[in-house]
Amino acid sequence: MCGIIGVSGTTDAARDVFVGLMNLQHRGQDGAGILTLAESGSELFNLQKGSGLIENVFSERSFKKGLKGKTALGHTRYATIGRQDPNLLQPFFDARSTIGIGHNGNIVNVYTLRDELTAAGIEFIPATESDSEVILKLLAYELGGHEPTAEHIFRAIEASMHRLIGAYAVVGIDGNGGLFGFRDPDGIRPLIYGTRTNSEGKQVYALASESIALTYLGYTIAGDINAGEAIYVSATGEMTRKVLFQRSFSPCMFESVYFSRVESEHQEHSVYETRFQLGLVLAERIKALGITADVVVPVPETSRSAAIAIAEALNLPFRESLIKNRYVNRTFILDGHAARQEAIRRKLSPITSEIAGKRCLVVDDSIVRGTTAAQIIELMRQSGAKEVIMASTCPQIQFPCYYGIDFPSQDELVAFNCTEEQVAKKLGADRVIFQTIEGLRKALNKGGLCTGCLTGTYPTDVTCGSDFQTQRVKDRTTLIRKS
Ligand code: SF4
Repeated sequence: MCGIIGVSGTTDAARDVFVGLMNLQHRGQDGAGILTLAESGSELFNLQKGSGLIENVFSERSFKKGLKGKTALGHTRYATIGRQDPNLLQPFFDARSTIGIGHNGNIVNVYTLRDELTAAGIEFIPATESDSEVILKLLAYELGGHEPTAEHIFRAIEASMHRLIGAYAVVGIDGNGGLFGFRDPDGIRPLIYGTRTNSEGKQVYALASESIALTYLGYTIAGDINAGEAIYVSATGEMTRKVLFQRSFSPCMFESVYFSRVESEHQEHSVYETRFQLGLVLAERIKALGITADVVVPVPETSRSAAIAIAEALNLPFRESLIKNRYVNRTFILDGHAARQEAIRRKLSPITSEIAGKRCLVVDDSIVRGTTAAQIIELMRQSGAKEVIMASTCPQIQFPCYYGIDFPSQDELVAFNCTEEQVAKKLGADRVIFQTIEGLRKALNKGGLCTGCLTGTYPTDVTCGSDFQTQRVKDRTTLIRKS
């Protein structure tokens, strides 16, 4: 999962992209980059990218000297492959076709496509594991030497969509000053667009993974890019949208459950409201099972809204008894079991007086590997909890994600092939309650949903997925050995 943003028609576009990216930092912390269309000089594009947090990659000098221009795109990286390889940082550009892109998602048939493109004479220099580079080269290939106009770009995107298998939201810029974006035919990864009036009184456009990145910059949200749809904004500000190849509507359920900022909106649904609904629906199940507790405790930060809903619905006190050290990064996107365990220990501190002697209903957004949950349960017990009941607003994750979320192999998933009782035993809890898949659908109310990691049924073909998984496991093994 990564964060992408593109803006056009704005003086100092890179600075807006930087501010927008800061609001997408939660989507990836491995590195960041900004690409602008140069206004002068011999280079077509200006590009700066680097490893680490966004504020460490860019400085005032970046905007005063290098990243000039009215059209810009930015990317913040969450690596699922080649985490330590700086060659994988985005955006990428192709000087010959004059297009540059940033991508969020994963291409399942990346190796097949790269072989096909290589056989067609396309060079990958340096040779990287990047599926985003494959998208770029494919687009450039399908553009076939034509000028990057809306018509030609749409045609290239449509042809590419018929060859790409997987999840992708892409933002791009071109040598004519155009800004474009598109979303995979199943709408797995999100892409939203907004408008505002620039200093010359003209309507300008921007695209981003989440609405918070645009509303923070003063844009009004105009809508989501639909599954299989593309948008093109010319240098003079004309906007065109077109559905090119739509197959289903299957947005990733994990965006609403965990990944997105709570202030964001997807498909006109507030993430906050969705998480609140997840809590209300889960409370119905808790009630039906006859489970009682003295207090509801959220695991900060993402589960707070659901925990409030559960406390209200069950008429129980809500107590924030686990306090997060805000300077420690999200544990989910760290590599390696030991690194994650250490991060959790540093991240959460209990308020013992609020826990001791109580039956605590601890609410988390999801239980993936179980590392966080097991440590929290241990913390609660050390703090004197009489009972620890763990509730997850996400159903049991039992299958790999081939679309960009890092829960790759089944043996790493604590809930794989287990009953709730078995998961409780593994985690050391008195009881574990998961959201049901029906409950998830009811709360998200989106009309369509990717639930591949819950059911094993995916919106696309995933038969090539094992090549990619093998590479990821190889990467992870290398990293764990180094740590
Ligand atoms: S498999 Fe799961 S995590 Fe991956 S895109 Fe689908 S719902 Fe999201």
